[in-house]
Amino acid sequence: MALEEYKGVFVFAQQVDNVLDGVAFELLGKGKDLAKDLGTDVTAVLIGSGVKGLADQLAEYGADKVIVVDDPELKDYRTEPYAHALASVINEFKPEIMLVGATAIGRDLGPTVSARVKTGLTADCTSLEIGDFPLVAAPGKESEQKHNQLLMTRPAFGGNTIATIACPDNRPQMATVRPGVMQKIAPISGAKANVVEYNPGFTPNNRYVEILNIVKAVKSTANIMEAKILVSGGRGVGSKENFKLLEDLAEVLGGTVSCSRAVVENGWLPVDLQVGQTGKTVRPQIYFAIGISGAIQHVAGMEDSDLIIAINKDEDAPIFDVADYGLVGDLNKIVPALTTALKAE
Ligand code: FAD
Repeated sequence: MALEEYKGVFVFAQQVDNVLDGVAFELLGKGKDLAKDLGTDVTAVLIGSGVKGLADQLAEYGADKVIVVDDPELKDYRTEPYAHALASVINEFKPEIMLVGATAIGRDLGPTVSARVKTGLTADCTSLEIGDFPLVAAPGKESEQKHNQLLMTRPAFGGNTIATIACPDNRPQMATVRPGVMQKIAPISGAKANVVEYNPGFTPNNRYVEILNIVKAVKSTANIMEAKILVSGGRGVGSKENFKLLEDLAEVLGGTVSCSRAVVENGWLPVDLQVGQTGKTVRPQIYFAIGISGAIQHVAGMEDSDLIIAINKDEDAPIFDVADYGLVGDLNKIVPALTTALKAE
């Protein structure tokens, strides 16, 4: 099959218990941009049991079309039937681009499906663009410029470099994308989905795993990906107890406390609150970085915040390179003074 026969941008619309994951909306937002650049449209692939009712929500967030694979076998996520469903959709509808959220489910599903449809996959992308990709030829041969490729960017070598990867010889071009990185569009209320139902058939051979019981994780901490104001602390805060200073500041601001990996490694705060490459990607209106040096792996998770305010005693700390406002000094003096001043307002 010629590569030109693959058309359209497809997004895997992850749902659990008939609730769509926010990353599906984020991918639709990005998918729309990519589709515009390619002169094509964006399709959501909705897989599950009794999920058709979610299609209009996907239309509200930008899906031009929704392919629904609905079957009792697909009630709860299992690799085998879901991979069969998505690979069959790809083989039938031939998308040029297939995007999947880098959630626990997406990290399992994406690579399984890419192997099955014999294409590549770039995992954990932080940026996607359409552009030209230079294909460097063997010595003595001429290099070639491949046009309109999906340029997939992700941190590599432990976050020490950023790699841009393309998939020029196979289709679809597949990527998993970190939740929180792409922006969803403002929902178009009342949009109705153009639904295409498709069922590749599920034979008993697909039943490799039987689910005996599902134990839901109890969330004990705030969702820092949804907070509008984050008061984030690093190793410089000094101790678990001293995080009280940041909690007080967060309280007067109506914000939430988050942290760097050093804080999690010290056992001061739980990993749910970690921002960065191996933590969460956040995009709040205001991000306070307090006693955080600004290592590349931390910055990767917060640099798209609308306003960054850094407090650090070291004026050369790299966090000041990404900060909009910087305060050089001891956080033990600055943070309580700020809290008191805000309280007085
Ligand atoms: P430090 O680098 O120790 O910085 C502490 C800062 O506090 C210093 O700048 C210091 O000047 C300042 N300070 C000290 N005392 C005071 C005071 N009294 N007043 C004001 N300022 C003070 N890190 C993450 O955060 N998130 C990740 O997801 C992540 N993923 C990683 C993935 C990989 C593969 C690797 C290799 C590393 C990762 N890291 C991550 C770790 C990262 O490289 C840094 O080690 C970490 O971010 C450092 O945390 P920190 O800034 O809190 O601590």
